[in-house]
Amino acid sequence: MALNRIRQRESLELDKEEGQIIADLQARSARAYPDIVPEELKHSVLIGPVDSLLNWGRSSSVWPLSFGLACCAIEMISCGASRFDIARFGMELFRASPRQADLMLVSGTVTWKMAPALRRLYDQMPEPKWVVAMGACATCGGTFHDSYSVVPGVHRIVPVDVYIPGCPPRPDALLYGLMMLHRRIRKSTIARKAGP
Ligand code: SF4
Repeated sequence: MALNRIRQRESLELDKEEGQIIADLQARSARAYPDIVPEELKHSVLIGPVDSLLNWGRSSSVWPLSFGLACCAIEMISCGASRFDIARFGMELFRASPRQADLMLVSGTVTWKMAPALRRLYDQMPEPKWVVAMGACATCGGTFHDSYSVVPGVHRIVPVDVYIPGCPPRPDALLYGLMMLHRRIRKSTIARKAGP
């Protein structure tokens, strides 16, 4: 009985100690930002990491390079129409110039003859840039994977960020893959690259 009371008291002390640590942390973090914002600006200033702002902007305005190579392109094109409406995500501006695009959406079969042009277009896109391999052909060559003329996966030519399976993938699958890409962009950081 006495031993139980001692244990209860010890546990109570531990709880109090832990509670005090948490209260100190909360007090310190509540003071951190308001202290550096002048009083007259407190209601009109938001403070957050630069990465969050840049990533929000980038992920909300990814401009794809027009790169329809085969039947998958039809599904990609239908994403631009009203039913699937890729404009909801700020992505309706399919560009004809690689210099105005930051996403290479490879939708279709890549042949070895096309490969140097694909690589050149990728190199001409400004950083940061991303690549989505849409469909079985772009992902691994698909039904033509052992053909002499087809690249068995576009990752052999350019780095790929998201793969979308299917032959062809439905527009919903493409949109899902693009959501995955947005999530990836939101996790990226320039702070780490700029650091020592
Ligand atoms: S994955 Fe299927 S639908 Fe897409 S380009 Fe290849 S054969 Fe055509």
